[in-house]
Order: sequence, then structure tokens, then C-alpha cells
Amino acid sequence: MRLRNIPGSREAIAASEYVIHEDVMREKRGRWNEVFENDHPLFLEVGMGKGRFITELAQQNPDRNYVGIEKYSSVLLRAVTKREELPQLHNLLFLRMDAEDLPEVFGKNEVSGIYLNFSDPWPKDRHAKRRLPSREFLTRYDKILIPGGKVEFKTDNRALFDFAIEQAGEAGWTIEACTYDLHRDDSMMEGNIMTEYEERFSAQGNSICKLVISHSRQMP
Ligand code: SAM
Repeated sequence: MRLRNIPGSREAIAASEYVIHEDVMREKRGRWNEVFENDHPLFLEVGMGKGRFITELAQQNPDRNYVGIEKYSSVLLRAVTKREELPQLHNLLFLRMDAEDLPEVFGKNEVSGIYLNFSDPWPKDRHAKRRLPSREFLTRYDKILIPGGKVEFKTDNRALFDFAIEQAGEAGWTIEACTYDLHRDDSMMEGNIMTEYEERFSAQGNSICKLVISHSRQMP
């Protein structure tokens, strides 16, 4: 994602009722049901960018809670601005944070599913640990997911996709579903919500890959 610093984005985010702030988010670890004031299952999108995917998902599934996670204020601001036009939506909040800290913000068995869409590829080997489907991140997801909780990953980057499959296997995850051409796979395409990147890359003729994995063991 091209990052332009938007002056005032930090302040706008700090003022938004839809963004849970750093001190509060850690305090709510294991108690996110209190934040949403219900016991509905909780789903995360990690690296949500401008937030179209998770906003549509939240609109379609009022009986589920959603938290969108984004590292950069300038990008998050776009999602917050759209969110502010939907005050009736009760099940969508945002966090500005690095996903490395997920286990400090969510408790064991607190999250029912995680979406990764068009994650940054970090092509240099020495940066592999920063890739969101890496073994290091899978360990973090394992710590917060319910047993059988799924990670769903979409990308047009074949190298990153193959890396994700390899890492999932090495970390003992089960592949539930996999396609190298999502938009021509009727069953996996059912209910698909396009992300901003998906729309852009598929319009350029790139095939979209999708992987669904579940964890098969519980972290201590
Ligand atoms: N998911 C969106 C989509 O499909 O249109 C955006 C994709 S964009 C290429 C990747 C996003 O992930 C960027 O906005 C980036 O800031 C965010 N990101 C990357 N690493 C992250 C991390 N460790 N924690 C939180 N967000 C991260």
C-alpha cells in the first residue's frame, strides 16, 4: 500500500468512537464481549487497509463481531471515515496496532476466525517473519483462535501464496480449502467480498489465490 502521511490522521483516529485505543485494548484482553456488550463470536481482519471487506462483512453478519486491525493511521483513517457514515452498525470496531502484538490484545480462545487479504509480500528472505501468513504469525493466531478457528488468506502474489501453504504445513495447520483462481471457483467464490486490492488486481487480469486453514493444536 502506498503510504501518504495524512496530516491530522492520528488526531482524527484518537477522536473516533470506533477506534479502541492502545491502553484500553490491552485492558480488554479476554473481555472483548464487554466492549461489544454481547457474546457474539469475534472475527478479525489483520492488515485491513481502507476497510471495505470487513465493513461489508459486518453489515452482512449482524450476529458476529468484527475488529479491523491496521498498522498505519493514514490508512485506518479511510476506514474510520466510511465507518462514521454507518452509525447503526453495532458490530465493527478498529484497532491501530501492529499485528505482532495480537496475543497481548486478545485472549486464548477469544477469536473465532481471522482474515488476511492481500498481505504485504515482504519479498526479501530476511523479512519473511514480517509476512502475515508466516509461521511466526501463525503462532500468534494460534494463541488467540478457538479450536478449529480458521485463517482465510487471499492474494494475487503466487510466491507469497506458496509460502503461506508451506508455512501452514510446517506449523501443523490443516488446509481446509485452496484455489489458485478464486474468481473461477464457484464454490469458493460463494459469498466472496472483494477487497480494494482484489478489485484492482483482478481488473488487471491477475488470478486471485485463496487458502483456508485451521489450527490443529492448542498453544499453552
Ligand atoms: N487488506 C486490504 C486489501 O486487500 O485491500 C489492504 C491490503 S494492503 C497491501 C496491506 C495492509 O496491511 C496495509 O494497509 C498495511 O499497513 C497492513 N499491515 C501490514 N502489516 C501489518 C501488521 N503487522 N499489522 C497491522 N497491519 C499491517
